[in-house]
Amino acid sequence: MGTRHVTCTEFLAELTDYLDGKANAATDAEICAHICVCAHCKVMLDTTRKTIQIYRDQEVYELSPSLRERLHNAIMSKCKRC
Ligand SMILES: [Zn+2]
Repeated sequence: MGTRHVTCTEFLAELTDYLDGKANAATDAEICAHICVCAHCKVMLDTTRKTIQIYRDQEVYELSPSLRERLHNAIMSKCKRC
């Protein structure tokens, strides 16, 4: 049972779940696999992280620093394995 390859649109939808903490292990794997083959989405992910940081600074988006760091570490460590 290999990792399903997702389209950029599906990646975006799954990334939203990921940021909401609703993603499961399969979604994690799909996100990882996609950013390894799609430079555009990798940049987009990086931008999303920065955006979350900006929102957090403005107290618009309630994402704790520990969760943000966990998200960053989880995604980047998984991607490096690819
Ligand atoms: Zn993509």
